[in-house]
Amino acid sequence: MPLTPSWVASANDADSDFPLNNLPYGVFSTDTLDARCGVAIGDMVLDMAEAEAQGIIDLTDEPLFDVPFWNELMEQGPAVWTALRNRLTDLLAEGAKDRALVEPLLVPMADAALHMPLVVSEFTDFYAGRHHATNVGTMFRGAENALPPNWLHIPIGYNGRASSVVVSGTDIRRPWGQLKSPDHATPAFLPCRRFDLELEMGAIVGMASDGPITVAEADAAIFGYVLLNDWSARDIQAWEYQPLGPFQAKATATSISPWIVTKAALEPFRTDTPAREFELLDHLKDSGPMLYDIALDITLAPQGKTATTIARTNYSQMYYSAAQQLAHHATSGCPMNVGDLLGSGTISGPTKPERGSLLELSWGGKEPLTLDTGDTRTFLEDGDRLTLSGAAHGDGYRVGFGTCTGTILPALTDPFAR
Ligand code: CA
Repeated sequence: MPLTPSWVASANDADSDFPLNNLPYGVFSTDTLDARCGVAIGDMVLDMAEAEAQGIIDLTDEPLFDVPFWNELMEQGPAVWTALRNRLTDLLAEGAKDRALVEPLLVPMADAALHMPLVVSEFTDFYAGRHHATNVGTMFRGAENALPPNWLHIPIGYNGRASSVVVSGTDIRRPWGQLKSPDHATPAFLPCRRFDLELEMGAIVGMASDGPITVAEADAAIFGYVLLNDWSARDIQAWEYQPLGPFQAKATATSISPWIVTKAALEPFRTDTPAREFELLDHLKDSGPMLYDIALDITLAPQGKTATTIARTNYSQMYYSAAQQLAHHATSGCPMNVGDLLGSGTISGPTKPERGSLLELSWGGKEPLTLDTGDTRTFLEDGDRLTLSGAAHGDGYRVGFGTCTGTILPALTDPFAR
C-alpha cells in the first residue's frame, strides 16, 4: 500500500511518523487551548474539538471531542470509528475541497503539550513473548524448565493497576520496597536497586463485552495500539512474587505513548503468529493474521549525555496476539470495558540485541552493557532517560507511534516524610 498524499506537506515525508495513512488519536493542550482531542498529521495536530464545534466533523448529536480523552468516540463502536477515519482522510487528502476550513484548525505539534489519550478503565499485563519468557525462565529456573507448563497453552497475565498508567514524558521515581537479598538472612525496606524497563505494546479495548468472546470478536473489539513501558523493580519482584505473581514490583508506573494508532491504520501490516508447538484449544485459535509487523527500539541516555540504542526488535515476535489475550481474558465471564488496556508482555527477539529489558540484556546483571558514551549499565541509574519508538514500514511511508519516554528520578530520601 503506497503513501496517501496530504496537503499537509510534512505528512508526506517518508520519515514522518504521522502520514495520512496513520491519523493517530491523542489529547493536547496549548497556552491558549484547554486539553482536548487532536489528530496528528505530519508535524501538526488537528483540533478536533474546534472541527466539531464548526460542524466540519459531525458524527453524532452530542459532541465527542471537546473532552480530554477518546473514550466517547470508542463508545460509539466500529461504524463510527470508520466514519471518522473516512471523514478525516477526505478533509486532509491532497486536493481536499474543505482545505480552507481545516487549515486554521491545525496547531503546530511543537506548541502542543500531549496528555493521556484515554481514561484507562483497567490495566492487565500479559507475558506473551516466548523469547522473553524463555530468557527469564532460563535465568531463574534453568534452560530445562524455562517455560512454565501452561505457557504454550494460554497467554498468562495478571491484573495491574489503571491508576499507575502515565503518559510519555512523565518522570518515574525510583521506588522503595521490601527486598530480600540472597546475602542477608532477613528482608529490608530499601530503594529498588534493580529497576528496569519492559518494551511492550498496549492494546486498547474499544468495545465492551460481558462473557466469553471469540478471538475474531476480540480482534474486532480492539480500537488501537500504543507503545508501553512497564517499569519493573526486579529485586522487589524476586521477593514478593511467590506464589501470586508481581504486585508492588509493577505498581510504580507504566508509561504509554501519547498517540493511539488505530487498528485501521495497522491493517496493511498484519502478520501471523508463529508456528505452534502445541495446537491451541479452539477458543484461542487465530482466525487470521492478528499480529503486526511493527519495528521497535529502545534508547537509553544517561543524564546529560547522548542516547544509545540498546535494543531493536519487532512486535511480530510475540507468541500470542492481543486478540488472543482479550479472548482469554473474557473466558471466565470477566466483563471487559471500553478503555481497558492490555500490555502485550515484554517483546524480545531471538538474539541478544533484540532483548526488550535490561534484565535480559545484562543477563540478570552479570553481563553489563557498554553504552556509546562509555558508561556501563546492568539496571537503570538515576537520571537515565529511556525512549521507546516504533513504526510499521510501508512503501515510502511509515505508520509511527511517536515515542514513549521516561526519566528516572532518584528515590526519595525518606518515603514517609510529610
Ligand atoms: Ca510487563
